[in-house]
Amino acid sequence: MTAAFDYDLFVIGAGSGGVRSARMAASKGKKVAIAEDRYLGGTCVNVGCVPKKLFVYASQFPELFHASKGFGWTIPGQPSLDWATLRDNKTAEIERLNGIYNKLIDNSGADLYNGRATVVGPHQVAVNGQTYSAKTILIATGGWPYIPEFPGSEHAVSSNEMFFLDQLPKTAVVVGGGYIAVEFAGILNGLGVETHLVYRGPHLLKSFDREMSDKVKEGMASKGVHLHLSSDINQIIKTTDGLSVALSDNTELQAGIALYATGRQANTNNLGLESTAVVLRNNGSIVVDDQFCTAEPSIYALGDVIDRVQLTPVAIQEAMVLVDHLYGDGSATIDYSDIPTAVFCQPELGTVGLSEEQARAEYTDIAVYTSDFKPMLQTLGGGSERITMKLVVDTQTDRVVGCHMVGEHAAEIIQGLGIALKAGATKAHFDATVGIHPSAAEEFVTMRNQAR
Ligand code: NDP
Repeated sequence: MTAAFDYDLFVIGAGSGGVRSARMAASKGKKVAIAEDRYLGGTCVNVGCVPKKLFVYASQFPELFHASKGFGWTIPGQPSLDWATLRDNKTAEIERLNGIYNKLIDNSGADLYNGRATVVGPHQVAVNGQTYSAKTILIATGGWPYIPEFPGSEHAVSSNEMFFLDQLPKTAVVVGGGYIAVEFAGILNGLGVETHLVYRGPHLLKSFDREMSDKVKEGMASKGVHLHLSSDINQIIKTTDGLSVALSDNTELQAGIALYATGRQANTNNLGLESTAVVLRNNGSIVVDDQFCTAEPSIYALGDVIDRVQLTPVAIQEAMVLVDHLYGDGSATIDYSDIPTAVFCQPELGTVGLSEEQARAEYTDIAVYTSDFKPMLQTLGGGSERITMKLVVDTQTDRVVGCHMVGEHAAEIIQGLGIALKAGATKAHFDATVGIHPSAAEEFVTMRNQAR
């Protein structure tokens, strides 16, 4: 340790990026502190990826109950959901994970401070009434849901509250067209809530491949989500029974809850950054260079708070690169291209690389291969869900530059294809790969007919 400082590294925020940075730095023999004022594991573990996925599983059972009949099963009586059991079992699992995070930090040798930390100078952090000095400070405070202001916006809730509802509403209005809106619309619909998804634009998931996001839209509608596209909320009024939600197209919806999933903003309020040279963008996110250093040379930032790619695995990779930069040989780098990602909407969307639209803009000549088929489960199960896959190929090099899928297990399948794209796989490599039969994934290596 540098004797002049209490710590080599003081991390503010014990989410995915913060914890990984603290543990890796401590494993390199550095004296590390990490402060957290809310919950260990951050958004992902507590009010994001993990509980969301548990809810997605819960919401898929009705379709499985239905499909089971074709496979010879009889379910006596009508299956019903006990929301309190789901919610509380989920919370118990999250608390277990909080405990694991606590142990990981403890075992790493880092000091954990449960309290709100603020920066009081380029090398000083205050927490729980004490000020500590650190050679390097890392801001990994993540983001927080953003709800725009409009008449009645105080009656809207964010995804944070959705994990702890006292009761499931009979009807819900979900606002937004991004990851969280479509995921929660699917969850609520699957759990039996009449769900209205209101999005101001014409296309849900607008930054994804258009053909694929259209499949998601069709799939969601056919599963029963009421879509209100190119529409916005004018106002929300609290009534004796719940909420009256007035849409810009003059529709009026009566709902038990209005969920706003309209983006997330960096958590930089009241962090004390004004006592430093750290530069913030208009949306509150922190400006950093390639090594995650802010305009204040002793202060670094990573994860959602820098607003590059708001994904847990990206924050973790950023942490590895930062620790290598600070305490290793500095050779580690992060490549933000070809990041595989999945939206756990229903039907599920998985993607890596360029959309067809992006590829057309980037390359002079592309070939597009598609496949659309009924998953085997539905043959006896009787459901209407389909699977759509797509490969986008740069014809000059034969490299596969985009790989997309809508349908069951898309996330699991696209993860492996992410490696192929990272390795620069060509369409010839895909064609030369033997399929696993019978699987949905094998379609990715048997697509021979060029759609466009
Ligand atoms: P997104 O940025 O994905 O989507 C925000 C949506 O809200 C957009 O459709 C946007 O519309 C709309 N919107 C923004 N402002 C307004 C407004 N004033 N009025 C009406 N609509 C508005 O944010 P999310 O909140 O869904 O998620 C945040 C991030 O978290 C994601 O970007 C993603 O990185 C991450 N995440 C990842 C998940 C995963 O990996 N599966 C799951 C959940 C979250 P428009 O498009 O027109 O601007």
